[in-house]
Amino acid sequence: MNTFQDLGLNEDLLHAITDLGFVNPSDVQSKAIPILLEKETDLVALAQTGTGKTAAFGFPMLQKIDIDSRTTQGLILSPTRELCLQITNEMKLYGKYCKGLNVVAVYGGSSITDQARDIKKGAQIIVATPGRIKDMISRRMVDISKIEYAVLDEADEMLNMGFYEDITDILSNTPEEKCTWLFSATMPKEVSVIAKKFMENPVEITVGNKNESTNQVSHEYYLVNSRDRYDALKRLADANPDIFSVVFCRTKRDTQKVAEQLIEDGYSAGALHGDLSQNQRDLVMNSFRKNQIQMLVATDVAARGIDVDDITHVINYQLPDEIETYTHRSGRTGRAGKTGVSMIIVSKSEVRKIKSIERIIKRDFIKKEIPDGMEICEVQLMSLANKIHNTEINHEIDKYLTNINELFADSSKEDLIKKFFSVEFTRFFNYYKKSKNLNIAESRSDDREGGRERGRDFGGNSDSTRYFINVGSKDGYDWMSLKDFLKDVLELGRDDVFKVEVKESFSFFNTEKELQEKVLAFFTDYKHNDRFVNVEVSENRGGGRRNDRRSGGGRRDDKGGERRSSPRGDFGNRSDRRRSDTSRPRRSGDFKPKEGARRSESDSRPSDSNISRPRRSRR
Ligand code: AMP
Repeated sequence: MNTFQDLGLNEDLLHAITDLGFVNPSDVQSKAIPILLEKETDLVALAQTGTGKTAAFGFPMLQKIDIDSRTTQGLILSPTRELCLQITNEMKLYGKYCKGLNVVAVYGGSSITDQARDIKKGAQIIVATPGRIKDMISRRMVDISKIEYAVLDEADEMLNMGFYEDITDILSNTPEEKCTWLFSATMPKEVSVIAKKFMENPVEITVGNKNESTNQVSHEYYLVNSRDRYDALKRLADANPDIFSVVFCRTKRDTQKVAEQLIEDGYSAGALHGDLSQNQRDLVMNSFRKNQIQMLVATDVAARGIDVDDITHVINYQLPDEIETYTHRSGRTGRAGKTGVSMIIVSKSEVRKIKSIERIIKRDFIKKEIPDGMEICEVQLMSLANKIHNTEINHEIDKYLTNINELFADSSKEDLIKKFFSVEFTRFFNYYKKSKNLNIAESRSDDREGGRERGRDFGGNSDSTRYFINVGSKDGYDWMSLKDFLKDVLELGRDDVFKVEVKESFSFFNTEKELQEKVLAFFTDYKHNDRFVNVEVSENRGGGRRNDRRSGGGRRDDKGGERRSSPRGDFGNRSDRRRSDTSRPRRSGDFKPKEGARRSESDSRPSDSNISRPRRSRR
């Protein structure tokens, strides 16, 4: 193993490295730094987050630029404000002995004139998000025409976020003969395109395998019914009392809802997504950094650049739309030499995606079972016992002990221990004693080679629901645009709506059965272009085409088509059941299930209704 001295770094940088406590260069640093110091070359580096890549491009850039000049010579583009600030801080730390160094961060959501002023003072290095720097270029607030080194950090993520045009624009304002260093966790086609377009014979380095996630992380999945997803999440948290995690959801709305529900249920949780103000996001991130939040519920975009090294678990509450994103998610844990666990809570309809992810990360998933209630009680009890065993006695309590000792004078040691632990145990026990098994079997029809697709091909998939919807071609829809419309309004993934058949004044479509409640609840009183959109379940679940074809014309005219059962009746039953439950007082947050929508485990057991979820704070 080589040392930082071996890499050819100068004294100022080595001094800073000692201060930072870095002992040995990481893999990406050992590979990239000597090349970048030695040659004026383009570089493509495939490296995950948390591998030390900021230093891999940061040290060479700091060593190569002319600190005595006030010209902007280095430009680092990063996908998010958080990452932009994180890189800027790191660069300042790395360059703390480079006298006269000025690294300026430019990003949206903060005063553009202040940032322009900081640059005017002479910024040798600018770290920027694409949108903001593009804006500054067009307003002539920044001059990047003399850039010698351009870094595209997390290039795959920038492209995922739709920054292709911006990056192209920005780079067209830089000189041709500069060096471009591209860092990316994965190598999708789009990144290769950028590399080809803007680079000349780049040196390629790979840390681990392409697209592979770090082997510090173990990958697990848990198969549950969609409706049990939230309860499964709570169990996973309870089964890991010291969890410090990022929980990924697909949409901002789900992120907010899950975080609110967790808070309501007594967990230390917070939401991080793009609909929050910058100030709110900063507050959440600060609490998370200080370990005051155990479960940070986040969208993929907002979670980029989370610079927290000791995350124990990443929980995929929902799978990402693009499975390549899984690598980014799991890369949030297992950082800086630590181990981590990446968990997926998966429903039957999605389980086939696990295989695809395995192919991408080149690692196998372990199928695990959601622990049952008694296992959780045991884990919690043992965790408490260990904590007590390791607790140093605080002698400040000595002065109160006389009274306490008197109170327990007649209790044996065994009884005392039992009573003491019962305080905690009973809370968990009462909560979990009637809990059900959340695991479901991985049956043949939904095996991981794509059972759902097979079911679709043969038209007899009993796991799917066929719906009637009162819009059709006369409303301007074809099957594609109707599918897009449904996907968008219901916030579903690409494959979640299928067998869309558009007739003149009505249409049919399918979703997995487990989405039925969501679909019906959404369309309970939904208006589009001032018209009520009515969605009902068709009794022909397989979506038999012959039936569809027989039915022609408008909704009222086509009684010969699929028979529809009324979702309202069904819902009525459920809402009655709901009313008869005495549920705990809830905040009137979004997550409160709509009338007729599903209930969560904590609400559905009257015997538990007065028991607030047992929870201790983490630290
Ligand atoms: P990065 O991949 O650049 O986000 O770095 C992840 C974390 O590792 C940051 O907190 C860095 O400060 C830290 N780091 C970078 N290089 C080293 C090193 N050689 N030894 C120890 N920690 C490092």
